[in-house]
Amino acid sequence: SDSHFPVPISPSHVDHSLHYPQYFPSSGQADSCKRIQFADIGCGFGGLLLSLSTLFPETLMIGMELRDKVTEYVKERILALRAANPGQYQNISVVRTNSMKYIPNYFEKGQLSKMFFLFPDPHFKEKNHRRRVISPHLLDEYAYALQVGGIIYTITDVEELGDWMKSCLENHPLFEALSKEELEADPVVQLLSSATEEGQKVARNEGQTFQAVFRRIASSDQT
Ligand code: SAM
Repeated sequence: SDSHFPVPISPSHVDHSLHYPQYFPSSGQADSCKRIQFADIGCGFGGLLLSLSTLFPETLMIGMELRDKVTEYVKERILALRAANPGQYQNISVVRTNSMKYIPNYFEKGQLSKMFFLFPDPHFKEKNHRRRVISPHLLDEYAYALQVGGIIYTITDVEELGDWMKSCLENHPLFEALSKEELEADPVVQLLSSATEEGQKVARNEGQTFQAVFRRIASSDQT
């Protein structure tokens, strides 16, 4: 149950010193104005975070993962990389949490510039669609956490789930698809299928992937 892991009561209660000690030297000390900007939801073994860490060395990012052992593995992986590469990998971290429940506990309105949902669990049966991490209701929460102009990246090897994620995004008033040119110009897009462990598995099996990349837009009554 969720009682096994602590949940911050609000985003201001997230202890950044635990996650990014180089940027936040001691607990409660807010001498850095940095905020977490990227969130990898269901990060699994953390491959995407590692790639993004060096691509955006000044951006703080966090992986959110439900499985305890997997979260511990990612923590160890990051600590080992920090030890082997002084000064590097200081901007990434991971937290064990249920992202379907606790996104608002971690992020303020408009805090994030990128959110990632790479190879999420498909939950094939119709009665389990409510467990999918992309849904009309959850997109409201993601739209809240994302800044206007922020980008949500999704990819899957399950065609039906790909269609579902795309249609949820298309039907949401606060998201619009990136154009082909924008997708080509974004260096992050090519990491979607290559950086994570699941993506590499699909690539090894020469499986097809289905991606949907959308931008958070302002609502018509919002400036
Ligand atoms: N994104 C990774 C990748 O591409 O390699 C992992 C993909 S794996 C198929 C899906 C991951 O999402 C699993 O590690 C699972 O534990 C995690 N997950 C499922 N539901 C979750 C939830 N509600 N909150 C956080 N993580 C969740």
